Amino acid sequence: PSVSTASIGVTGLAVMGRNLARNFARNGYTVAVHNRTPARTRSLIEEFGHEGSFVPAEKPADFVAALERPRRLMIMVKAGGPTDAVIDEFVPLLDPGDIVIDGGNAHFEDTRRREAALREQGIHFVGTGVSGGEEGALHGPSIMPGGSVEAYAALGPMLEKISAHVDGEPCCTHIGSDGAGHFVKMVHNGIEYADMQLIAEAYDLLRRAAGRTPAQIADIFRRWNTGVLDSYLIEITAEILAHTDGETGKPFVDIVADAAEQKGTGRWTVQTALDVAAPVPGIAEAVFARSLSGHTELRAAARQLTGPQVPAAAGQDADRLVDQVEQALYASKIVSYAQGWNMIQAAAEQFGWDIDLGAVAKIWRGGCIIRAGFLGEIRSAYAADPALPTLLADERFSRQLGEAQDAWRAVVTTAVQGSIPTPGFSASLAYYDALRADRLPAALIQAQRDFFGAHTYQRVDREGTFHTEWSGDR
Ligand code: NAP
Repeated sequence: PSVSTASIGVTGLAVMGRNLARNFARNGYTVAVHNRTPARTRSLIEEFGHEGSFVPAEKPADFVAALERPRRLMIMVKAGGPTDAVIDEFVPLLDPGDIVIDGGNAHFEDTRRREAALREQGIHFVGTGVSGGEEGALHGPSIMPGGSVEAYAALGPMLEKISAHVDGEPCCTHIGSDGAGHFVKMVHNGIEYADMQLIAEAYDLLRRAAGRTPAQIADIFRRWNTGVLDSYLIEITAEILAHTDGETGKPFVDIVADAAEQKGTGRWTVQTALDVAAPVPGIAEAVFARSLSGHTELRAAARQLTGPQVPAAAGQDADRLVDQVEQALYASKIVSYAQGWNMIQAAAEQFGWDIDLGAVAKIWRGGCIIRAGFLGEIRSAYAADPALPTLLADERFSRQLGEAQDAWRAVVTTAVQGSIPTPGFSASLAYYDALRADRLPAALIQAQRDFFGAHTYQRVDREGTFHTEWSGDR
């Protein structure tokens, strides 16, 4: 029978939920807090109760009773079954007009299903992407809420307040209806995979083809971080490469096993890209590169395969290569981001989401893993032309790609000749060249399809659908 005083409630107080609850409280909101296992709720109050106004609740009914109406109830539990279990537990306690927010890493199709089911009962369901890990959750994440415009009106200002801010602007905007927020968060993670892969390839080239040590590469990355590549990921990469292992004194990067793991959002991005017919080879190569790295049995079986042994460049050649790698990295990065944005565009069309593509760039400038000055350029590109078919066509990006392409080609050539795998750089360059080609060999593929399967083809010189009677004796 408590008085309803909390502006928002958070259930699920593991690292993410606890830090988001603290973030709301530090911003002056009264926050009801609940967790299935009450010990987490108690420890939050004991450790951080002094930071702001919390209303701890052990019973779901008390938690719900503490919330002002319309109730805003945020779920921060393990994605999948647990989220459904928590929804089933709380929804019977809610009233029409209340807002349930899922800040977990849900698959956007689950979010669409949950939103539709709760809408039947008059309850708003806001699937919300939250990026930036536990630090972001506490100090200001990038927040990507989906759901209805009406729900955003009642919730958005609070989310904007606790989000990261860049140049005084919040890194939170209403993305679009139902699952749009979780979709965009998924693509963010796909782009993050691509960015990390490209940076890793740049490191590999600098080390093996330009003969630089990890410590020297750390300095190079620090320098790059003051130019067009300025970003959180470049910054932390420099820090990692400068780090030595305390036990062995070796560069830290050399004592880490070279099998990359993944939690699955990259895989979702690629699976979904196929479903919405969006070509995202840069992102796909990054996901496959992680997968390949983990296949120790394949790698062991291939050890005997031969390849050239090319000594690292030295002197001015090495210096030149370092500069070329910077340009190749930037060009490949533009391509990956362009693919990510095209994927969002394709989904928006398919699912009927009204997504402001420039605003997506705006809210990724801070709080999230791919935060970078570069996102400001993407925002400007869509401000100049909201219907831009590809970022590569933007005037600034197309000029930069033109300027970088000689270096990009030289780097891919060096990689191929030196047997250094660069799937990200190579696939991005192939994408660039495929998009700009006058004619693609897809013409031959259509002819082959017509030959063996009578799949028909279209002609370049007149309208219609054609089939050739391929004779038996050719
Ligand atoms: P987590 O380890 O994913 O989940 C633990 C929380 O879920 C605990 O509060 C746990 O309660 C609760 N839970 C699990 N099963 C439950 C059930 N059947 N019923 C009720 N509660 C249940 O926690 P997290 O790392 O803080 O992440 C929370 C969500 O945010 C996840 O969806 C995650 O994917 C997403 N996310 C995480 C990050 C990150 O960097 N960690 C970043 C963005 C988004 P008990 O204490 O009772 O076990």
